[in-house]
Amino acid sequence: MSQLTPNPSPRPLIDPFGRAISYLRVSVTDRCDLRCVYCMQENMVFLPREELLTFEELERLGRIFIRLGTRKLRITGGEPLVRRDVMRLIASLGQDLAPGRLEELTLTTNGSQLAKHAAGLAAAGVRRINVSLDTLDPERFRAVTRGGRLPQTLDGLQAARDAGLAVKINTVALRDVNEDEFDTLIAWCGTQGFDLCLIETMPLGETGEDRVEQYLPLSTVRPRLQRHWTLQRDDTPGLAGVAPGPARYWRIAETGQRIGFITPLTEHFCDSCNRVRLTCTGTLFLCLGQEDHADLRTPLRDGASDEEMEAIIRAAVARKPKAHDFIIDRDHPQTQIARHMSMTGG
Ligand code: SAM
Ligand code: SF4
Repeated sequence: MSQLTPNPSPRPLIDPFGRAISYLRVSVTDRCDLRCVYCMQENMVFLPREELLTFEELERLGRIFIRLGTRKLRITGGEPLVRRDVMRLIASLGQDLAPGRLEELTLTTNGSQLAKHAAGLAAAGVRRINVSLDTLDPERFRAVTRGGRLPQTLDGLQAARDAGLAVKINTVALRDVNEDEFDTLIAWCGTQGFDLCLIETMPLGETGEDRVEQYLPLSTVRPRLQRHWTLQRDDTPGLAGVAPGPARYWRIAETGQRIGFITPLTEHFCDSCNRVRLTCTGTLFLCLGQEDHADLRTPLRDGASDEEMEAIIRAAVARKPKAHDFIIDRDHPQTQIARHMSMTGG
């Protein structure tokens, strides 16, 4: 638990490029019940449990970040809802919402366990979640996730709607796999009241698949979509009032829902990056696409005070890189960053 002394307004976290860091993503596990082809290998070796931060350690770090100006906190993974008792952590962090210390607590999930947990998430103060769904075709779903069941995710989405959670669907755009489905996904999201975000596949971690084959530049997709849909720019800040970060959004006139494009390869928006990422082992990554990091677990387990932890976090943010430099083509290695997305959290 936090040992913080009541000092309500320490200096906010500002990186060397003047970007305020107000958004923390926390990966609570590297494990997952799926094996998406762009994310993991079929046979993954997961970390032993003692490597993972305990809930008490995660709560303490979360509260230190909140004191340093984190307004939005996203729980992610691996699949966050497969970590045992994760709802206990979420409920605890949710207690910072009512007094206004935290403006938004949210989650990225594959939806497989959502039917069980959607009501609990809403009760903990979660208002919006991201659910990853690359296809509405059960066979494709099974192939992309290497064994997942589409109805399980759809049941989870229904439970999220019933619980009153706003949903954004995350879809990784994959050449020759789901590129013929974007119109269907837009229309379906319209009927469900979900926003949709298309994401370019990033060269993170070995997956045993050919990334050049998978990669679909979204710069070619938006003009295609505009033949059927009227897109109007809409970068309204989210609930927490924080800038949209490295995504750009459009309102779809025909459905009333939004569509976002995360385009780290064809057009990055690193200038507006407002986030850092904490892995399940307590490593703080300053950029998804760079190796710069700081180990927070060692000082935490060595008994560092909150003030000492704050100093370590400030020193890390002072090293936040300006931008990533992802490239996917035949002239570049298939994997630029060895760690999987499930380590750093999506
Ligand atoms: N398991 C949860 C899920 O799938 O939503 C949370 C973790 S997952 C790593 C977070 C997001 O990262 C998902 O939307 C997933 O599609 C995306 N992702 C994973 N690997 C990626 C990659 N190599 N490039 C782009 N997005 C990726
Ligand atoms: Fe699991 Fe999410 Fe990675 Fe898919 S994208 S393998 S669901 S962590």
